Amino acid sequence: MDSVSSPIEMFFFPFVGGGHQIPMIDMARMFASHGVISTVISTPKYAPSFRESIVRDQRSGHSISIEILCSTDAADISDANMSATPVTDTSMLEVPLKKLLLQRRPDCIVHDMFHHWAADAIDNLELDVPRIVFNGNGCFASCVRENVSSFKPHETVNSKYEPFVVPGLVDRIELTRSQLPAFPFVADIMQKSKENCYGVVVNSFYELEPAYVEQFKEHNKAWIVGPVSLYNQNIADKADRGKKAAIDEQSILNWLNSKPSNSVLFISFGSVSRLAQEQINEIAHGLQASNQPFIWVIRDVFRGERTEFFSGFEEKMKESKQGLIINGWAPQLLILEHGSVGGFMTHCGWNSTLEGVTCGVPMITWPISAEQFYNEKLVTDVLKIGVRVGSLDWLSWNVEPRASVGRDAVEAAVKRLMGGGREGAEMRNKARVIGEMAKKAVEGGGSSYENAVALINELKDRRRMNGRH
Ligand code: UDP
Repeated sequence: MDSVSSPIEMFFFPFVGGGHQIPMIDMARMFASHGVISTVISTPKYAPSFRESIVRDQRSGHSISIEILCSTDAADISDANMSATPVTDTSMLEVPLKKLLLQRRPDCIVHDMFHHWAADAIDNLELDVPRIVFNGNGCFASCVRENVSSFKPHETVNSKYEPFVVPGLVDRIELTRSQLPAFPFVADIMQKSKENCYGVVVNSFYELEPAYVEQFKEHNKAWIVGPVSLYNQNIADKADRGKKAAIDEQSILNWLNSKPSNSVLFISFGSVSRLAQEQINEIAHGLQASNQPFIWVIRDVFRGERTEFFSGFEEKMKESKQGLIINGWAPQLLILEHGSVGGFMTHCGWNSTLEGVTCGVPMITWPISAEQFYNEKLVTDVLKIGVRVGSLDWLSWNVEPRASVGRDAVEAAVKRLMGGGREGAEMRNKARVIGEMAKKAVEGGGSSYENAVALINELKDRRRMNGRH
């Protein structure tokens, strides 16, 4: 094969852990399924969490591999407990990354914007390797953020709970100051990583948010290539995606198989956010009163020591078979796509939101931090496939959480979505239709499929023009 027609080589440099790492691994795998040579750049501590899925892809003939960067700092980056935040410093990877780029000179590198040093480091190498940014959000949230930042509508209201309308959007979107991220520096990081970049890849699909994809593209060269979670096709990929699950897939499937279709509420707040113990108790009371079957991922909230109340609750739920509580990492995709699941109580992290949408599941929205309040608006006000639990205050990941939603609000939201009423059924139908669109988008000829092909073709054209390789 001559150099011009040899496969395109793409580097993927995900952020460390959780909601940013997971979709970029899927994206690297997706591009490999299109015939690209994909390389995922990681570190000794983080690579094991996704190595098996890469090995499975290699066995099925895809050109994908992991490149481990060994920093001089023996501590690696924090610990690999999936709780990296936008302030986690990864700059010890700068020297080995530059060395790798100089050696391999791929056709492009896709990097997470939270490696905030990476944009300058890559650009200053002047290697002519296009730098593409992954920002982890959908287009709607990006448009809301950009318009809040440019028009500053929050400065026109007198109190933190007084609503204001976000200008310049096709839908009427109201927010309050209490829901806005308290750290404008994250928006600055995003902006900075986009300056001088070749383009942006977005984990979304055109049909989900067409007006916002168009609006986003007015200011950004972008390829909309999701939902990338759909590239997890076999049970093994879904079962341990991101981390080893705390429950085996057969137990969870047996439990779900024993429930009627659309009856189970899945409850998870993602990989980072924490809830206060009093909040956990309020949720428990609300769920019990709702009488609805549920699977609830509580992660390590009790750090091994349950309160007396919660132990009793867990015991009761086990006996009555009303609820299954997962103390650790859950196989979220496997659960969401099961026919018994009829609702998802979510913190509205973008991946979870998109996974709910893709599986055709309506939501109870409970945003906490990051851009989650914007995602809530997309679900409830634009797509109209969710009910709000009533969370009002943006909370930083480094602040001690407090209870903000009472048991009655939890019970009411669960009954509204899951109680068999017309509103819940309509939302479920709408969600199902959008889920079908998501699947079509990644099939041959679909919008996301074609966007991925367009990026690959553009990289091929560049190579041809530069006479490189
Ligand atoms: N996830 C999972 N099991 C868990 C918790 C989370 O598989 O127990 C996955 C979930 O499917 C999603 C990601 O972790 O892909 C969380 O990303 P999201 O953007 O929703 O939230 P974040 O963790 O970044 O707040």
